[in-house]
Amino acid sequence: MTTADEPQTTPSFNDLGLGEQSLRVVRELRFEQPTPIQAQALPPLLAGRDLLGEAPTGSGKTLAFALPILEGIDLANRAIQALVLCPTRELATQVAAAIRTFGRHRPGLRVVLLCGGTPAAPQRKALEEGVHLVVGTPGRVLDHLGRGLDLSHLRTVVLDEADRMLDMGFAEAVQAILRTLPTPRQTLLFSATLPATIAAMSRTWQRHPVHVRVAESADHKPLIRQIVHPVAPQDRQAALGAVLRAHKPASALVFCNFKESARGVALLLAKAGFAADALHGDLDQRERDKVMAKFRNGTVKVLVATDVAARGLDVAGLAAVVQFEFPSSPEVYVHRIGRTGRAGVPGLAVALVGPGDAEKLAACEAAGVGKIERQPVPTHNPHHAPGPASSAAVDTLFISGGRKDKLRASDILGALTGEAGLQASVIGRIEIGERLTYVAIAQPVLGQLVGRLQSLRIKGRNFRVERVQ
Ligand code: ADP
Ligand code: MG
Repeated sequence: MTTADEPQTTPSFNDLGLGEQSLRVVRELRFEQPTPIQAQALPPLLAGRDLLGEAPTGSGKTLAFALPILEGIDLANRAIQALVLCPTRELATQVAAAIRTFGRHRPGLRVVLLCGGTPAAPQRKALEEGVHLVVGTPGRVLDHLGRGLDLSHLRTVVLDEADRMLDMGFAEAVQAILRTLPTPRQTLLFSATLPATIAAMSRTWQRHPVHVRVAESADHKPLIRQIVHPVAPQDRQAALGAVLRAHKPASALVFCNFKESARGVALLLAKAGFAADALHGDLDQRERDKVMAKFRNGTVKVLVATDVAARGLDVAGLAAVVQFEFPSSPEVYVHRIGRTGRAGVPGLAVALVGPGDAEKLAACEAAGVGKIERQPVPTHNPHHAPGPASSAAVDTLFISGGRKDKLRASDILGALTGEAGLQASVIGRIEIGERLTYVAIAQPVLGQLVGRLQSLRIKGRNFRVERVQ
């Protein structure tokens, strides 16, 4: 195994061997410099090498593997040439969306998402019509393999967040998939940590991999202010409210250790006037998607989640993370605080520590998570106006059509400003899914609209429209 040298100076995207279509999309996305993992991984990946990439969440791994894959795809050949395995449906969905974005100047590129929680029949239909690239979860990909998924033209496989895949019990499924893949091929393994199990996987499945490691060194480490507040058990909920009022984060992710507490905490926050909702394992996939869309578009400002439920959530510029319950291990603590302070935006990580959490806090400090400030719970003036976390100025509209119906953001914007008579300025984020779309709309306007608007004509077809509750 060889280890790539740390670059001496920060390179530019132009120096890494990328083609013009890749450089164009990087310019359009306004990515000014490659992240360290991108700078180190792109040249060997473009040269066809296997790679073991050790890098924390938010380090820009997706672009690092997606651009070389896209450059290697023969668009004229509608056969699966690359497979990306991700631990959860949410992560797979994000990776597929990112790949579609990065590949938007490659006409005819077909990417299919294969994961649970969605019907298999449309996935099979897409496969029959021919695709270039598959993104999926190990379980669902294995199901499709059993039904004749043809990976015989595959040239690159990516195991994204491999440590999480093993945590989620996918070791067997991943190995079963890898065994069916043709050789020679390029095998990429990305993981935030490198436990013995991952090292063993690398030895078994990779050929002379380049080992790229991005430690969270002082320069790359995102700026996260860590604060802990000691609390008595019965004061946790009040302390949470006080923290949110004191810091007024534009958006906050609140972690609970159990789904029961996530549900209860979200309910109490909502009662206290916060725009809060819960994300936990008891929600079905549609409900989860809905909650996540509302959080991303700002209808929900405080999302209360369990660790498992929050895994797939990628929200840029999350202002704060609050740990309502203290996690059982430093790894979980680090993973939680890593949700804030991404991509150069400073973040705030607050944790409530009860009398029983002292040892767990000490373990985090011993593990070198960085400086943690100890402060009393902020006091708040009850007459104080609630902060931005409580004032949801936007609401969410659901439309019963999506990418499968060939709807684009411009079509939806056109219908809402045309037929529905809305001003473009009240329309926020438009999030188009496979078969449904969520649109953020300024609340007062949506209130007037919903009585009248039950369907919307877009591209000559009627779609059902409703306000998301
Ligand atoms: P990871 O998979 O390592 O957790 P992602 O690939 O999801 O990280 O990237 C995290 C965020 O950083 C994404 O929002 C992505 O668009 C952004 N990003 C990626 N590369 C760059 C770059 N070179 N400059 C600025 N932002 C970037
Ligand atoms: Mg990722």
